[in-house]
Amino acid sequence: MKVLVVGAGIGGLTTALQLHEAGIDVVVIDSVTELLPLGVGINLLPHATGELCELGLGAALAELAIPTAELVHLDRFGNEIWREPRGLAAGHDWPQYSLHRGELQSLLAATVRDRLGHSAIRTGMRFVQAHQDLDRVCSTIYDRTRNHTFDITTDVVVGADGLHSAVRAGQYPNETAPRWNGIRMWRGVTVSKPFLTGASMVMAGSNHTAKLVAYPISATARRQGSALINWVAEVRVPDDRESTANWNRVGRLSDVLPHYRGWHFEGIDIGELISGSERILEYPMVDRDPVRRWVFGRIALLGDAAHPMYPIGSNGGSQAILDAGVIAAELAGSADPRHGLLAYEAARLEAANAIVLANRDIPSDRVLRLVEERAPQGFERIEDVLTEDELRAIAVGYQRTSGASTSADRNRAGGVRVRTTGRGPATPTSSATSDAEPETPTPTTTLT
Ligand SMILES: Cc1cc2nc3c(=O)[nH]c(=O)nc-3n(C[C@H](O)[C@H](O)[C@H](O)COP(=O)(O)OP(=O)(O)OC[C@H]3O[C@@H](n4cnc5c(N)ncnc54)[C@H](O)[C@@H]3O)c2cc1C
Repeated sequence: MKVLVVGAGIGGLTTALQLHEAGIDVVVIDSVTELLPLGVGINLLPHATGELCELGLGAALAELAIPTAELVHLDRFGNEIWREPRGLAAGHDWPQYSLHRGELQSLLAATVRDRLGHSAIRTGMRFVQAHQDLDRVCSTIYDRTRNHTFDITTDVVVGADGLHSAVRAGQYPNETAPRWNGIRMWRGVTVSKPFLTGASMVMAGSNHTAKLVAYPISATARRQGSALINWVAEVRVPDDRESTANWNRVGRLSDVLPHYRGWHFEGIDIGELISGSERILEYPMVDRDPVRRWVFGRIALLGDAAHPMYPIGSNGGSQAILDAGVIAAELAGSADPRHGLLAYEAARLEAANAIVLANRDIPSDRVLRLVEERAPQGFERIEDVLTEDELRAIAVGYQRTSGASTSADRNRAGGVRVRTTGRGPATPTSSATSDAEPETPTPTTTLT
């Protein structure tokens, strides 16, 4: 079986690794001419970390990432609303990892090239359209470097081409632009001194007005005694000027800084944090309404192409990684790839679509908003502002939707797991995650 994966993002590259593990030939194309380490911080929830550890990436992730230990919610004055343990500290089987998206993508790309051969990833290749019959799919690709168009025939096409997916547009030609909720996000990374535990994620303020999320993302910086802090400023803007959702769009300090004047928490001066970024990126908080089908014969959607969601709640990358494990297992386990793809859709669609909707009304955002409304000038005791039941109910609600984390949960979310090589799961016991078993060499396959 030959599979064309469109998009060398987090979802597409993980899919390539999973398909290869399952003994399936795969080639990945991406429209960019070079895979650069773009983006800022991203989070892997424990179940997604587990998938990557099972692919033999546990030690490499531990080298790069911060195993997030706690999530602390504050009001805009720095008063603590609640804190909860995360990842291993919360009893999960695997760490929750915070890391640089570009570093994660580079790690995945290097691993694909190492295991599948350099030509397994073709850059500068833009997917245009696909036609299929009962036996195969013919995809039209535009080669940007040579400025010509050619066709490639495979058994399956996986559209992992993100929010503006061309594969999805081929199946949903009348779909309109992504939906914007009126919140603009500015993002950046700043070298700073560590705050709280050095592995804490802080969420402060409220996305009703202005909210700030900050967490460290670099194990290298941590080893050197400093911290590379990823920050996201979410501001509800009064105008209806919706900017195009482009992850690389540069933002202006003067647009974001005024919203955070005077914000200062224990160990973090928010103004300094924001001003300290070499580059600020701007992105509108957009998603798309869930769709009822991701699979169309031999063509399937995966990751953001299937279920684009607000980039909050740590689920964008994590859900794409879960998709990858399931689609590979189902394709490997089915004689007819069309049945395998339908089994993938059946296993994943409902759960991922539920997260798209849950992200529109995240319980923790609701509680931050409630605190802002009830105590606009701050508070001394959170018990005077919220009842314990309010706090507990809201925290548990979101975890139930998105937080599958134990091995049993992952297997449930991930359908049948098929391993055709000897690479076994890693057993992380601490932040210094390491692979328990040596890597078994796998045969290199390329697809032309
Ligand atoms: C440049 C960039 C920066 C990002 N930065 C962040 C970040 O800082 N934090 C965060 O939480 N999330 C970020 N994201 C989004 C995040 O990566 C995804 O939400 C999540 O990882 C799911 O990944 P995905 O593989 O489905 O999509 P993506 O990671 O978006 O990858 C899609 C890939 O498809 C390629 N592609 C698009 N159209 C075509 C086409 N027609 N033909 C061939 N290839 C195509 C794109 O070049 C891209 O490499 C970023 C995405 C991108 C593309």
